[in-house]
Amino acid sequence: MTEQDCLFCKIVSGEVPADVMRESDRTIAFRDINPQAPTHVLVIPREHHPTAAALASSDGDLLAELIREAHRVAVADGVDETGYRVVFNTGSGAGQTVFHVHAHVLGGRGLGWPPG
Ligand code: AMP
Ligand code: ZN
Repeated sequence: MTEQDCLFCKIVSGEVPADVMRESDRTIAFRDINPQAPTHVLVIPREHHPTAAALASSDGDLLAELIREAHRVAVADGVDETGYRVVFNTGSGAGQTVFHVHAHVLGGRGLGWPPG
């Protein structure tokens, strides 16, 4: 499932370059172009699904795979023990700008709570 004008579908197809750090059969992890922390990686499914909620409804196993991959990213960057955050912005009011579901993996610095 792909969407013609979706930026992250274009990263999956290779039409748009990305700093890819991990790949699995069903997911890709690449560094955010505008990092908000020393580790800031996006984990996406190769298939197009707009939001985490949509993915949960249509393929819960794939959503779980995103979380497993987020942890592997944290281990690979050495932030799993200090702690990291996994964020799914959902809806424009929450800051979602790309409507191809992505897990932000943030770590490598102290992260305040609640988020600003
Ligand atoms: P969101 O605002 O939650 O939809 O997250 C979209 C994220 O994608 C933002 O953090 C952007 O910095 C990031 N982003 C946008 N374009 C690219 C790109 N070409 N390569 C890597 N990250 C990108
Ligand atoms: Zn897409």
